[in-house]
Amino acid sequence: MRSFNEYLNRYLEDLKQKQLYRNMEVLKSGCHRIVHIGKRSFINFCSNNYLGLNGHSDIRKAMIESIAKWGTSSGASRLISGDLELFEIAEKKLAKFKGLEASLIFPSGYQANVSIISSLVGEGDIVFSDELNHASIIDGCRLSKARIIIYKHRDFFDLKKKLESEIGKRRLIVTDSVFSMDGDIANIKELVDIAERYDCALLIDDAHATGILGKNGSGSLEHYGIKGRDVMVLATGGKALGVSGAFFCSSDIVRKYLINRCRGFIYSTGAIPAIPAGLMASIEVVKKEGWRRERLKSLYTYFWRGLKDLGLSTSEEPSHILPLILGDSEKAIRVSKKLYEKGIYARAIRPPTVPENSSRIRFCITAEHNYEDIEIVLQILKKNLDYILN
Ligand SMILES: *Cc1c(COP(=O)(O)O)cnc(C)c1O
Repeated sequence: MRSFNEYLNRYLEDLKQKQLYRNMEVLKSGCHRIVHIGKRSFINFCSNNYLGLNGHSDIRKAMIESIAKWGTSSGASRLISGDLELFEIAEKKLAKFKGLEASLIFPSGYQANVSIISSLVGEGDIVFSDELNHASIIDGCRLSKARIIIYKHRDFFDLKKKLESEIGKRRLIVTDSVFSMDGDIANIKELVDIAERYDCALLIDDAHATGILGKNGSGSLEHYGIKGRDVMVLATGGKALGVSGAFFCSSDIVRKYLINRCRGFIYSTGAIPAIPAGLMASIEVVKKEGWRRERLKSLYTYFWRGLKDLGLSTSEEPSHILPLILGDSEKAIRVSKKLYEKGIYARAIRPPTVPENSSRIRFCITAEHNYEDIEIVLQILKKNLDYILN
């Protein structure tokens, strides 16, 4: 182990040199608007708990009751003896919520993307993937052994050019709907038409759209008024829904195929029963408490306008994910530290999570925030404007 460890150590030292070393911050409280770190408390701007549903009484009750009735474990892979009826009930409801025929629950979104993409396509097939897609999509593409064609970010002219020249057995287009590090949205309506015209399958990752987009918060399909089209959508439970896990929605035939082919489903213990129970309860809250989406929207619009007024580099459109693009990793860390000193918890995001020279602070706004929280951040940024802009 000695030379092995020496290698690891050199690798870590190198990361430190490049300002790319990562460590975890221990929270002494749950992940809410205010978090406790050490002896101090901070306003938290980096959780994906966009609607503030983490700990919601309805969800908590459903999850606790599911443990009492079904236990703390599903006991086995769902193909062996872990297919609790609770999963089947939840999957019907979750599919309906997304407006698709069927769904399948996974313990995590990462696991879902990696194992679903790698079972849908293989050698001789082609995946067309947006250049800013989430790491779990990238890993799924790599594992599949399909040819990976990257198209320019949200650039469907580029995509179409590539669809015309790259012919394969099976073809799949895959994209985030709301992009996780920039908060911008792919035009899913146009993409559904393109997929149909070119006879391609389409997989949309709705991780940051579920609970947020659409009148009922069901995500990007509802947002663009897409109904009755044959598409696949991945939703995650750990973000706006305030739970954990993921559900993949599709036609019934794709679901059946995955049950037979998807190794991440077949060779993995079913999610804990509290996940389907929590997801079902959460989508009811999402539908019922539309005020959370409205409040979120006015908060992030206020924040976005404030960033723009300061002349800072952020997204073109307001959204619940607001990047403050700083470029240099060291600068991103410095600004993050300045915020931290003043009681704001907003971490620097650096390569390889984002492209080179696009290090940033990624502010996540939630319905739990208030205008004063945002004003505090804007004032800190204003005081450091010279440093940030030069
Ligand atoms: C967070 C995220 C995932 C992974 O979901 P987990 O349930 O956290 O593993 C997948 N895709 C996107 C776009 C994400 O942001």
